[in-house]
Amino acid sequence: MSVPRTLVATDLDRTMIYSAAALALPGPDEAAPTLICTEVYQGVPLSFSTATAVAALQQVHRSAVLVPVTTRTDAQYRRVRFPGIAPAFAVTSNGGSIVVDGAPDAGWAAAVRRRLAETSAPLAEVVAEVDRRAGDWVLKRRTAEDLFCYLVAEPSTVPDGFVADWDAWCRERGWWVSVQGRKIYAIPLALTKERALAEVAARAGTDRTLAAGDGALDAGFLTMADAAMRPPHGELHQLGWTAAGVSMADVPGVLAGEQIARWFAAEVDAARPAVVGVG
Ligand SMILES: [Mg+2]
Repeated sequence: MSVPRTLVATDLDRTMIYSAAALALPGPDEAAPTLICTEVYQGVPLSFSTATAVAALQQVHRSAVLVPVTTRTDAQYRRVRFPGIAPAFAVTSNGGSIVVDGAPDAGWAAAVRRRLAETSAPLAEVVAEVDRRAGDWVLKRRTAEDLFCYLVAEPSTVPDGFVADWDAWCRERGWWVSVQGRKIYAIPLALTKERALAEVAARAGTDRTLAAGDGALDAGFLTMADAAMRPPHGELHQLGWTAAGVSMADVPGVLAGEQIARWFAAEVDAARPAVVGVG
């Protein structure tokens, strides 16, 4: 009898890991959940998950294929570590990279670059235009793996209409814009998490997918999944986004991450075949 195999795909930032500013803990400090540091940056703790969430993910990792799916670059992804979990696959750079047993798949990266060259304007053209539009409200402008670029800015300082105008310019050139926290991404339309995730599902031989994410860049793979959950915060929440098969956690912040991880574990457990007794 073949055992159904589940792929559990989760966005990282503000879905499964949270900066101190994004924890949104309710109630008094003495009632706060135990937190585990899941990312260190320049020697300082940067991201956290609850201990309960980490335990649930460990359970998922034992009986399903747990796949982090992130817009982070490979280098940014390598800083994220859940104790006791070494994912066989990860999707990074918004689908520009598939990490297999810790190493980026060169064939996938080359295929992505060929597709982007055929379907979207070159990164250099987009960077030149965003630099022309950027004002002193922009804290940083970064490129990622020669695939896409983003601005870092305090949301309250971004000029009215900037994002809509920038998105309109991008869409005429095969790109679009997504805002997550302090980052304003410009991404080629053909560079998607869901395309890379479909490749991972094929390689892993899974036949069911569960998913979670909070940003517009996650909407594609949430919709593609058999069932999904999103937190009541983030870009999708601000957009009022809903889709069939996508439920919403009850609480925002790091506790949403915990609820999602527990939901993953319960769904994976429920899908395992019952042990049939003899006689
Ligand atoms: Mg996110």
